[in-house]
Amino acid sequence: MKRFSVGLYVLLSSFLNPYQSSIAVSHSKTINIIPRPVSVQLLDGEFSLRQDVVIKVVHQDSRLRLIAEKLKTRIEAASDFELAMNGDDVDPDAKQIVLVLDERFRKLGDEGYQLVVHSDEVIISAAEPAGIFYGVQSLLQLLPPEIEESDAGSSRWQIPCVEIIDYPRFQWRGQLLDVSRHFHSLDHLKRNIDNLARLKMNKMHLHLTDDQGWRIEIKSLPKLTEIGAWRVDHNDKLWWERPFPNPGEKATCGGFYTQEEMKELIRYAQGLYVEIIPEIDLPGHARAFMAAYPEVSCDGAHYDVATGGDERNKDVCPAKDATYEYSEKILTEVAALFPSKYIHIGGDEARMQGWKNCPDCKKKMQDEGLANFHELQSYFMSRVEKIINQNGKTMIGWDEILQGGLAPNATVMSWRGEVGGIEAVKMGHDVIMTPNTFCYLDLKQGDPELEPPELGYGQLLLPTVYSYNPIPHGFNDEQAGKILGVQANLWSESLVYEEQANYMLYPRLLAVSEVGWSPQELRNWPDFVRRMEVMLTRFDVLGIDYALSAYNVWISPHYGEKASGAVFKLETEAGTVDIRYTLDGSEPTNTSTLYQKPFQLHKTSTIKARSFKDGKPYCRMATTRTIDIHKAAGKPVLLDPEASALFNFGGKMPTDSRILTDCVRGSASQVGVGWLCFN
Ligand SMILES: [Zn+2]
Repeated sequence: MKRFSVGLYVLLSSFLNPYQSSIAVSHSKTINIIPRPVSVQLLDGEFSLRQDVVIKVVHQDSRLRLIAEKLKTRIEAASDFELAMNGDDVDPDAKQIVLVLDERFRKLGDEGYQLVVHSDEVIISAAEPAGIFYGVQSLLQLLPPEIEESDAGSSRWQIPCVEIIDYPRFQWRGQLLDVSRHFHSLDHLKRNIDNLARLKMNKMHLHLTDDQGWRIEIKSLPKLTEIGAWRVDHNDKLWWERPFPNPGEKATCGGFYTQEEMKELIRYAQGLYVEIIPEIDLPGHARAFMAAYPEVSCDGAHYDVATGGDERNKDVCPAKDATYEYSEKILTEVAALFPSKYIHIGGDEARMQGWKNCPDCKKKMQDEGLANFHELQSYFMSRVEKIINQNGKTMIGWDEILQGGLAPNATVMSWRGEVGGIEAVKMGHDVIMTPNTFCYLDLKQGDPELEPPELGYGQLLLPTVYSYNPIPHGFNDEQAGKILGVQANLWSESLVYEEQANYMLYPRLLAVSEVGWSPQELRNWPDFVRRMEVMLTRFDVLGIDYALSAYNVWISPHYGEKASGAVFKLETEAGTVDIRYTLDGSEPTNTSTLYQKPFQLHKTSTIKARSFKDGKPYCRMATTRTIDIHKAAGKPVLLDPEASALFNFGGKMPTDSRILTDCVRGSASQVGVGWLCFN
């Protein structure tokens, strides 16, 4: 896990709600595609998908044929139709869905497409099969959500007439899944990849190794999975509370992918235009490696595979010959297995504890003239990069690889905010933006008091994710061209089950898909929320879990100049639901008072508020705030020193001292409601 270093926190009072109220959007004939296409022109009329529609592939391109067959299978599974394809004996006057490779669309790039729907014909044109594939994804999103069902039967399969021209903003639209901290099955991975494809995302970064498990078979080093893939089972306890294993305890928890299974997954992903990028994390986060082969550690001692978030020594020795010999074996097999041109080598959070007392490390530093451990790490990364380059691959590393001198050809993933990415671009390297402040989907997505207590830490709200622009402020075109794209990271310290992973991913991954695909100038929060709500009805059909945290109610006090008492404002991030509340501590129902405008309180009260949609509760639980009205209510407060925005999840940390006297108690977690931070 990437942990934050934080300053001193003082539990104070309330939180100024950062959200603007949303604009109401009409639900008439609208296009609800996520990510939002570049250009959409609505035309009159509809195309009726019926039994006699023919799917036609122009050019006998096998990749195109495969896309057409998948579309046919999806339509037939949902409807009771049997569609013909060209090549079959078809009526020349039949209505058609045409897929055509056409060089004239080369200007839309390898992934761009045009989708035209007329009442008698649907045509998807692109220069490359990937574009056709994304055109089909858009077409499916023009159909009702029941298209995702099996046996939806006699729904009305109408497609609005429209002309869409579309292409991605960035070439890298990725998601990391951490399969080390908890092992996730191949089927889970496939379902995750299905959703990446739905959202026109094209990279899946698999975090395959860490302290808590080695997940990929390496044939020349069998102990990596015989020993390194298994740990003592403490999954029933919270990550940071799991005890160290006792000597002789059986390691029964874990799993790994054989190379054959991984090949199957790679083929599956290729069929959905998703590339799998393997990560072998070195030299830190390598305890499972050391458990299997202690000779790569500094002291050669016995190591257990970690059961949870312990912080004991976990870096391989960057001075031992065995470390390089084994790394070469691993990376050579990984390079042969994965067709991606990239291998991610980690490089993050080396603690360097073992290196301090290691005679080999000391000697290596003397021999190579290395001034400190950062330079020792950099020496290690450069040697590993040579192995990767010799295998015809490009190295990616987390932004720590900048410390002590960056390996010459490396691509950098900027996770500790954007600073590392900005620095790397200025040094001429390619960068993928995945800052923890916008892209870490393992963070809680709402007030911690309202989120499942066992999931996540910190806070990253959906509107914050949506607000992200991967091109840093002030970049010129050449610098902007070095930003390959954006990636959401789902670390799985707290994610044991697929439902938990999905709860954290969705709907925030929808926002990331739009950050990566749609033009910055078209990004619009209320419009996104409207389309997201349609997409969530698809997720209902698909049985995919998601969070409704953007519909939690924020309760925030405001004071006028005269401070005659607090005025309380209730709102949700989504802004599309009714809010109902009580003042006596009772649970709000669909007949409780409907919130219409901010209200004043003159005596101590408990506000309980919850969002409702179509008369039903539409968030996980009600927000509760006890308001203790006292004589200092709303009075100004002088802070010395002033509060800091250091611990700043997307700019949402309050610094206004009046949260001390707003009569609202802070939340139990210091990153929730009502905290000030002092540096
Ligand atoms: Zn050492």
